[in-house]
Amino acid sequence: MGKIPNDCFAAPEEMITTEEAIAQIKHSLCPVTEIETISLDTAVGRILAKDIKAPCSLPPFNNSAVDGYAFKLTGDHQPLQLIGRSAAGSPFGKPIEEGECVKIFTGAIIPDGADTVAMLEDCKLDGELVSPPPNLQINSNIRKAGEDINEGETVLKSGTRLRPMEIARLASLGYATVAVFQKLKVGILSTGDELTEPGKRLAIGQIYDSNRYLLKTLFKKLGAEVIDFGIIKDNPKSLQQTLSTAAKNCHMIISSGGISTGDEDHVKQSVQKLGKLDFWRIAIKPGRPLALGTIDDSVFLGLPGNPVAALVCTVNFGFAIANRLMRGDAGRPVPGVTLPAAFEMEKKAGRREWLRGRYITTQDGITGVKAYHSTGSSLISSLTWANGLIEIPEEITEIKEGMQVRFIPFGELFE
Ligand code: AMP
Ligand code: MG
Repeated sequence: MGKIPNDCFAAPEEMITTEEAIAQIKHSLCPVTEIETISLDTAVGRILAKDIKAPCSLPPFNNSAVDGYAFKLTGDHQPLQLIGRSAAGSPFGKPIEEGECVKIFTGAIIPDGADTVAMLEDCKLDGELVSPPPNLQINSNIRKAGEDINEGETVLKSGTRLRPMEIARLASLGYATVAVFQKLKVGILSTGDELTEPGKRLAIGQIYDSNRYLLKTLFKKLGAEVIDFGIIKDNPKSLQQTLSTAAKNCHMIISSGGISTGDEDHVKQSVQKLGKLDFWRIAIKPGRPLALGTIDDSVFLGLPGNPVAALVCTVNFGFAIANRLMRGDAGRPVPGVTLPAAFEMEKKAGRREWLRGRYITTQDGITGVKAYHSTGSSLISSLTWANGLIEIPEEITEIKEGMQVRFIPFGELFE
């Protein structure tokens, strides 16, 4: 398990690009989570901690892909003598000769001597005589031993998030348990005198805290163990108390709001009192300078208060930090897909922008991607409308309808 140096986020002097920020995060941090072995039943969403090699080949034996008749192909097209059956789990058990066949079922062992399976519905049966169709090739309808995986092959790499598909892969190879990284402990808090907990009555001038719910669920979905530190008033004493408790219990602390330099923005001084805090100027929109620091052995990330900016900074930088801490790889950039733009925009050169996007589905399939009609950074409607983010690279200054743009479906952020 690694330790986090407390000057790891020293801010670069210049404005940096997204790529540079992610490279710096990778460079500065190391994995901090221990390894534990858990049952396959509880492993979905967890991060594999060791490479997995196949202890056996799959399938382990040549077997039939269909229900039918297994025989040796000779090309003489004579009817075959039916001499027995091979079912999945109940093999025929003996070799067969030329001119003979066995009735076979999907998944059953191909008897020695047979090299071809004819589908049941393609054969003519006359008593104990079977006539297969004339056009079969050798190996037809046979699944070869090892065609899925060969013994000794590396099938899954350390750092892989276990989806239902990887769980099935592990089960198929006989693994009942799996070594995964312990969950990263992520502490989440909101700051702001205007924030009220959902379920309570709103006083004048108040709004409900939505960021904490956004962040808690984002990080749970990423595979972290979330510790909720609630809403903290804009008051240095409560902030310091909460941050210092969080640092004792978490690998990573995330706050939203209170990070600008206004009178009511106390996060900066509080973190600086307890540890280190730097402001990275990253050429992005939406987003402000990103506050990155350390308190003891914990990484601190201060997000903007506006929900859209909080989301964009989280999925691009917060996830890079969390992934690096919990599995070694920052997991960024995500590939996304390229789709024709169904919108137009102008933008400044030199910064990367993310728009809330939604792909358009017609009878012909997915035909393009729309951008939300407003770029307001406080609009949660834009997030519920969107099913992903459109990423516009630094050098682009104009998008015209039909131009290819990069779209990152929200689901891909959790790979
Ligand atoms: P701040 O960064 O604290 O100046 O906040 C910027 C904007 O985001 C303000 O309109 C805040 O009311 C709003 N905001 C801050 N924190 C939250 C939160 N947890 N949930 C929803 N909105 C928030
Ligand atoms: Mg505030």
